Amino acid sequence: MSVNGVIFNIQRFSVNDGPGIRTTVFMKGCHLGCGWCHNPEGRLFPPFGLNNEVIGRTVETEELFTEIEKDRVFYEESGGGVTFSGGEPLAQPEFLKRILKKCSESGIPAAIDTSGYAHKTLFKQILPFTGLFLYDIKLADPVQHLKYTGVSNTEILENLDFLLNKDANVIIRIPMIPEITATGDNIGSIIKLLGKYPVKPEINLLPFHKIAENKYKKFGIINIMAGIKKLPETEMQEYRNLFESNGFKTKIGG
Ligand code: SF4
Repeated sequence: MSVNGVIFNIQRFSVNDGPGIRTTVFMKGCHLGCGWCHNPEGRLFPPFGLNNEVIGRTVETEELFTEIEKDRVFYEESGGGVTFSGGEPLAQPEFLKRILKKCSESGIPAAIDTSGYAHKTLFKQILPFTGLFLYDIKLADPVQHLKYTGVSNTEILENLDFLLNKDANVIIRIPMIPEITATGDNIGSIIKLLGKYPVKPEINLLPFHKIAENKYKKFGIINIMAGIKKLPETEMQEYRNLFESNGFKTKIGG
């Protein structure tokens, strides 16, 4: 049975969304509102236009699978696969479940790039079909999390706990936003939070950059990060060393 969903991009030959060569499918809609979002045009739930431009298109899972399968040879040669990103892929649960199952049955490894903000039942349902979770942790403090993303992190941390206790393959991704997420307090709290698990997940520190600036202008979205500068390379290295010294395999970038 095919299910309809809304996507706003398919990016082939991605190398930053999991191992090997990947096809990244950007799914529309996200319940969070991070000021540093690189895909602000993909956050709004469909159908929705910005500045008279319709963002996203409806696809059936069968049609999407045909697109994904075109690069099977590259996945096999490189150890890659498909990554569902967004927006938030879990915000279209039936569509995501169907396409993940289809990929799994067809031997195409699938990853999801998620904020973790979804009902735990959904994580339980997709776990058997998801080879890798690229799981964002932004702020350890729930009040700060609410302030900067619009939602509390309680559910996000509970879902992470579920996945790590189930030995799911999880890579933690931390957007390093100067003075917001990239602070000694926040990184120290994240290390403490993740340190309690017997198997420490790999950490990816994602540098803040301004590639989305033009999108904010184009779509008339207020860019609260306009005056924020990238974290100096030395500071990124210091945070990386801090994670490493606490036993986490860590890299800068996704
Ligand atoms: S969770 Fe990701 S997609 Fe959603 S608003 Fe934040 S950065 Fe953007």
